[in-house]
Amino acid sequence: MKQTEKEFTAPKTRPVQVGKHLIGGENFTLIAGPCSIESQEHLELTAKTVRSMGANLIRGGIWKLRTSAESFQGLGQDSFHFIRETLKKNDLSLVSEITDPRQIEEIHDFVDMFQIGSRNMHNYALLKEVGKTKKPVLIKRGFAALIDEWIKSTEYVRQGGNENVVLCERGIRTFETATRNTLDLNAVAYVKSRTHLPVIVDPSHGIGIRSLVPSMAFAAAASGCDGLIVEVHPNPEKALSDGQQTLNFSEFETMVKQLEKILVAIGRPLDKT
Ligand code: PEP
Ligand code: MN
Repeated sequence: MKQTEKEFTAPKTRPVQVGKHLIGGENFTLIAGPCSIESQEHLELTAKTVRSMGANLIRGGIWKLRTSAESFQGLGQDSFHFIRETLKKNDLSLVSEITDPRQIEEIHDFVDMFQIGSRNMHNYALLKEVGKTKKPVLIKRGFAALIDEWIKSTEYVRQGGNENVVLCERGIRTFETATRNTLDLNAVAYVKSRTHLPVIVDPSHGIGIRSLVPSMAFAAAASGCDGLIVEVHPNPEKALSDGQQTLNFSEFETMVKQLEKILVAIGRPLDKT
């Protein structure tokens, strides 16, 4: 009896500070923004709007790893000057993906959290390099990675001395093709029960269908994750990447209002920082 209780005592989540915000603390985290940063006006409008609707942190890709080399690859270096300026002017903190170790230094001074994308979860050279920094790192689950491989990938970052690791479940590839991926909420409960790492969920990539994103966001919140990362764009039909799974502002606002009710019910209200 004692043994069983011990085995199932979940480790206490160790929160990670990102800008002024704490992920994995008492409150629930909401990260929102476009799949890719498309221009200064686009970033500023989206960031300010989602922030005013309750998002704690802003997301947005500078470099995009697209399945097709012909697709939009992100603005890259051309966007640095205005991203720096926009974040500073509006006091916003940005989560953005790095796809190459050389990018760490390039964006280190203005990005608040490095995202390691699903396609790079097994890129141990990249993980080791972010491990040499103190910058918070969001590790998305590889779309064909076992939970165990995903947890082990964090050790490449932590071995270097960077303990600021947050996991992100973003859906895995299964036999099912009706949805883009299969959002694996088992993984949330499992990881929370076995590690001290905060875990957030990406319902946008998880299901890949705009109208169904809120349902999976609510299910994720109820599953006990520490937060969500959601794709939002002023005009998803015109988005340069992932428009089909991206909410517009009014859809996001409606989702947040319902999410807040669920969060109150489960005793983990949305953080207001
Ligand atoms: C993204 O967050 O836009 C993204 C590319 O996600 P993933 O790495 O999970 O596919
Ligand atoms: Mn995307």
